[in-house]
Amino acid sequence: MSKNHRGTGVRTLPARGRGTCPICKKEHIKVLYEQTIDGQQVKICKYCNAALKNKAKAAAPVVQAAAEAPAEESAPAAE
Ligand SMILES: [Zn+2]
Repeated sequence: MSKNHRGTGVRTLPARGRGTCPICKKEHIKVLYEQTIDGQQVKICKYCNAALKNKAKAAAPVVQAAAEAPAEESAPAAE
């Protein structure tokens, strides 16, 4: 199953994998991407999935840099 979001695989799903996206409220769109939002597992459309991915990617380096900076400073302070 290489194509998880196309063809025969989605035709077997209820409503052929289509529904209303909880984020963009688009109707009769394919909602095949599971995401955890506020602790709730929801199925969203590919556009919202891509948007969330880009958001996470943009936020990731900032979080990493912030986590590394205090670790270096704490070494001389331990004296
Ligand atoms: Zn959406």
